[in-house]
Amino acid sequence: MRLIGITGGVGAGKSTILEYIQAHYLCRIYLADQVAHAVREPGQPCHEALTALLGREILEEDGRIHRGRMAEKIFASPDLLKQVNAIVHPAVRVFLLGEIEKARQEGGVELFFIEAALLIECGYREIVDEMWYIYAAEDVRRERLLRSRGYSAEKTERIMESQLTEEAFRAGSDFVIDNSGAPEAAFRQIRGKLEGYTWRQ
Ligand code: ADP
Repeated sequence: MRLIGITGGVGAGKSTILEYIQAHYLCRIYLADQVAHAVREPGQPCHEALTALLGREILEEDGRIHRGRMAEKIFASPDLLKQVNAIVHPAVRVFLLGEIEKARQEGGVELFFIEAALLIECGYREIVDEMWYIYAAEDVRRERLLRSRGYSAEKTERIMESQLTEEAFRAGSDFVIDNSGAPEAAFRQIRGKLEGYTWRQ
C-alpha cells in the first residue's frame, strides 16, 4: 500500500484533485476535516473534552457540537484554538493511524490518501510514504475562493497567514502539482505521476 499525503494552502485545489483521483483510481481517501468532524460526534473521544473546555452552549439540542458556535467561541482566542487543536489533532491522528493499519492488514488497498492543509506541521511526513503539495498562485486562489465560497479578501488573507508559506510547503513535500491553470492540466500531472502504479482503474 502506498500512503500519500495531499497538502497545500486554502483554495489550492486539494478537494478538486482528490475528487478526480477518487473517480479514476482504486483508492481510499480520508480528509482530515471530515475525520475531525467525526471525532467530535457524541460518544466519540473529543466530544466530552470540547464540551468541558467550551461549555454546553456549543451543543445543539441533539447533543451534537454546533460547528458555527464552536468556531465563534474560538475565533477571538488563539489560546482556546490551541487547546481545541490539542484535543482534536491527536484524536484525528489516532483515528487515521487506525484506518491505515486496518487497510494494511485487510490488504487490497493500494493507494491510500490523507488530505489536510496542516499535514506538514502536524508531523505527517513521518507517517506518509510521499507528500504531494498542491500549488496554485495566491492571486488565483483568492479569485477562486471569492467566486466559489464567497470568501472576502480579508478572510482569505487571514487563513493564508495562518498556513505555511509556499517555501515551507515545497520544502516539506516530495512532489508538487501546479493547479494554477485549468483542472485538466493538474489531472494530467496526476496521471503522469501515477502512471507507474499498476492499479489504475
Ligand atoms: P482546497 O480543497 O485546496 O481548499 P478546492 O479544491 O476546494 O481547494 O478549490 C477551491 C475552489 O477552486 C473550488 O471552488 C474549486 O472548484 C476551484 N478550483 C480548483 N481547481 C481549479 C482549477 N484548476 N481551475 C478553476 N477552478 C478550480
